[in-house]
Amino acid sequence: MRICMVGTGYVGLVSGACLAEQGNEVWCVDVDSEKVQQLQSGHIPIYEPGLQEIVKRNYDEGRLHFTTDLAEGVQNSLFIFVAVGTPTLEDGSAQLQFVMDVAQGIGQCMDTYKIIVMKSTVPVGTTLAVQESIREALAARGLTELEFDVAFCPEFLKEGSAVDDFMKPDRIIIGAENSRVAELLKELYSPFTMREPRMLTMSIASAELSKYAANAMLATRISFMNELAGYCDVVGADIEEIRKGIGADSRIGSAFLYAGLGYGGSCFPKDLKAIIGCAATHGYDFSLLRAVEEVNQQQRERMLEKVRHHFGGNLQGRKFAIWGLSFKPHTDDIREAPAIDIIKGLLASGACVSAFDPVAMENSRDALGHHAEVSFAKDGYEALDGADALLLVTEWPVFRKPDFERVKSLLKQPVIFDGRNQYNPDQLKKLGITLYSMGRGRHGEE
Ligand code: NAD
Repeated sequence: MRICMVGTGYVGLVSGACLAEQGNEVWCVDVDSEKVQQLQSGHIPIYEPGLQEIVKRNYDEGRLHFTTDLAEGVQNSLFIFVAVGTPTLEDGSAQLQFVMDVAQGIGQCMDTYKIIVMKSTVPVGTTLAVQESIREALAARGLTELEFDVAFCPEFLKEGSAVDDFMKPDRIIIGAENSRVAELLKELYSPFTMREPRMLTMSIASAELSKYAANAMLATRISFMNELAGYCDVVGADIEEIRKGIGADSRIGSAFLYAGLGYGGSCFPKDLKAIIGCAATHGYDFSLLRAVEEVNQQQRERMLEKVRHHFGGNLQGRKFAIWGLSFKPHTDDIREAPAIDIIKGLLASGACVSAFDPVAMENSRDALGHHAEVSFAKDGYEALDGADALLLVTEWPVFRKPDFERVKSLLKQPVIFDGRNQYNPDQLKKLGITLYSMGRGRHGEE
């Protein structure tokens, strides 16, 4: 089939490449001409495991095209997927300008029947507003009879395993009001559901809300465990033992039960704000989700409090090694990453920082504004040299089993703040390293 993918970010580029990998011909369109040029010259602007290979293969074999010309993509395709950003506005609501710009653009250049499939995460009602906008743009060209359909297919890929998630999804949700469109989309997605044919069709409104609901549920689990971890620190229980204890209950399950520094990234924080904000415009108060957000924000402060407490409340002139900057392992995405807030908190207290991340240092340097008090090391051990303590912020595999003797010899004081509960408190105690974890009782203070 012939597909146009509008927006070549994390979602659009992965989706476009994976659809091309199944033999479809895909035009990836983006307004960012620099990004398009990079892609045309074989450079992938984001880090995503496995993506480079499939983009290169499909580009070389002529199934994947990159262009800034929306009309070229639209006129060549039956399906037009919209995967542009929907960032947070100042009032917390979703910014829909990019989506509506694309809708206008499609209406200004389509000349035959099209199926427009929204993939951007948007509030209930947006897909129908897109339909209306395309209709208006067609009417302005005198094309009131030109037919098209809209659908909403939420994307559930996760950065860091996006290619795998797209190729082997848990489920595919198709929101469509027209059964013929739903059947065509089922056909398009059928190669991805050969093993687990979980294809769910529903109304567009339910599909739009399903995406927010999934992220809100996962964020709620994370904040629940983090709040419980705070209580464990107070009463001397171990959140890791509790995690195993409750995760073994089949009604609960073991996923998303890890206490840590809270969620980040481009989706959970933005989507929670959007659902809370949209609900408020309908006079509905999502008090549970407001609490989820509050706990998440506190979690970064909890780590800083542990650091301040250990150093007697004064961090002036201290140096801290930071391991991990991306919001989670296997991505270079630092949007809403706990590391950025924690580094800012340390700098505000008069400390300086030496950081290492396998792929996210360039993005972090830009986000932190090339600060003189922040240096970037060539590896994790170099970051430790002369530091007062190590803060493990992102649990990249390379940080899981470090040479603790070497860590100890490089640090000024043998202190680790483990923001992801990666290290064994008993082992570190034997090595003479003071360990602070998130909700593992009073280990760090012994
Ligand atoms: P992104 O910021 O990485 O990419 C968006 C791209 O859209 C950018 O390259 C931008 O230049 C382009 N764009 C903006 N306006 C455009 C226009 N008018 N025409 C063509 N291109 C345009 O965003 P992303 O992370 O890929 O997210 C896209 C959407 O998918 C969001 O709504 C997000 O919530 C949702 N989503 C993201 C993820 C994720 O893990 N990142 C997962 C599921 C859903």
